[in-house]
Amino acid sequence: MGKYVIAGNWKMNKTPAEATALINEIKPLVADATCDVVVGVPFVDLPAALEAVKGSKIGVAAQNCHWEKSGAYTGEISAPMLKEMGVGYVILGHSERRTYFGDTDVTVQKRMRAALDNGLTVILCVGEYLEQREQGVTAEVVASQTKIALGGVAKEELANVIIAYEPVWAIGTGRTATAEQANEVCAQIRAVIAGLYDADAAKAVTIQYGGSMNAGNAAELLAQSDVDGGLIGGASLKAVDFAVIVNAAK
Ligand code: PEP
Repeated sequence: MGKYVIAGNWKMNKTPAEATALINEIKPLVADATCDVVVGVPFVDLPAALEAVKGSKIGVAAQNCHWEKSGAYTGEISAPMLKEMGVGYVILGHSERRTYFGDTDVTVQKRMRAALDNGLTVILCVGEYLEQREQGVTAEVVASQTKIALGGVAKEELANVIIAYEPVWAIGTGRTATAEQANEVCAQIRAVIAGLYDADAAKAVTIQYGGSMNAGNAAELLAQSDVDGGLIGGASLKAVDFAVIVNAAK
């Protein structure tokens, strides 16, 4: 369907020196990748990561951005700041931001607007909590998260949006969605895109699966018809495992 993209989400891991070392380890292992490869690093690692990826096709993502250009927002980082540094991607709406830092569908939408206005490619995370899956409302939850985040996003701007379906119960738990569960929800998200825009937009958009994807289960997940890549947490911190996942995305 969409272009394959494998992105690592390093979360709050690695110092700048460690980031350089990990990227230098990853680089030769993914040199022949046929998909896009991205590493999502902590803010303070961005200069080191941007330097280390030089000479490779690896893109660099920040893990959040504020919706205002500048102002009295202590501790925050804006989209123009990221753009000026040469950052290409930003992860928005990750469940850890929603759960621990008060991000909501509305703030995710505002961040999305700022990111797109500044030429960043957004990896938009959506996904249900375990209770929501058990109550049978997964499709409604991800549809509503997707629709609100994309409010005001034009069809042409979708080229700069990747959607990551990340069931919260599968993140960092070692409990992966089955390939069928992952594919089912990715297909539902694609149907939401078709409804919001049209069938061409739905076909072209990249929809990743994320949640305990690893070197052992990646090939099966990535072989699903509606799964166009992965957002990888824990396994992206191990160069060899990350490379196995990248090279499974053919
Ligand atoms: C994530 O943080 O986006 C993620 C999918 O983490 P993990 O792969 O560790 O479950």
